[in-house]
Amino acid sequence: MEDCIFCKIIDNQIPSRKVFENDDILAFFDTSQATPGHTLIVPKKHVENIMDYDDELAATVFSYLPQIARGIKKSHPNIQGINIINNNGEIAYQTVFHSHIHVIPRYGTNDSFS
Ligand code: 5GP
Ligand code: ZN
Repeated sequence: MEDCIFCKIIDNQIPSRKVFENDDILAFFDTSQATPGHTLIVPKKHVENIMDYDDELAATVFSYLPQIARGIKKSHPNIQGINIINNNGEIAYQTVFHSHIHVIPRYGTNDSFS
């Protein structure tokens, strides 16, 4: 989709630090790291938010969460927990309108995310 930042990242028109990629999804580091390893998972198909997923796309995209979480933990072994966050709609703090799932590692009660 034209003028979508995440479609441009998927098309390599905008560089990103990729964590995982296949035909269905791309996972890449958020430029604004809430904590080290903060990753976004996006479907390659442009959908605005969760209301636009069909069951198949939802099952596909969300099925990658465990393996990506494990991968981040492997490269950041001191992770103590992980927040999975998915903002849908402006009122819910969505700022990029290509659906994405935040995977935010947690390092302790005083880490940079609260
Ligand atoms: P939202 O608030 O929509 O849930 O999250 C959007 C996220 O996208 C933000 O955390 C923001 O830092 C991230 N973001 C925005 N533009 C870019 C970009 O060009 N590259 C990357 N890697 N992340 C971006
Ligand atoms: Zn898009």
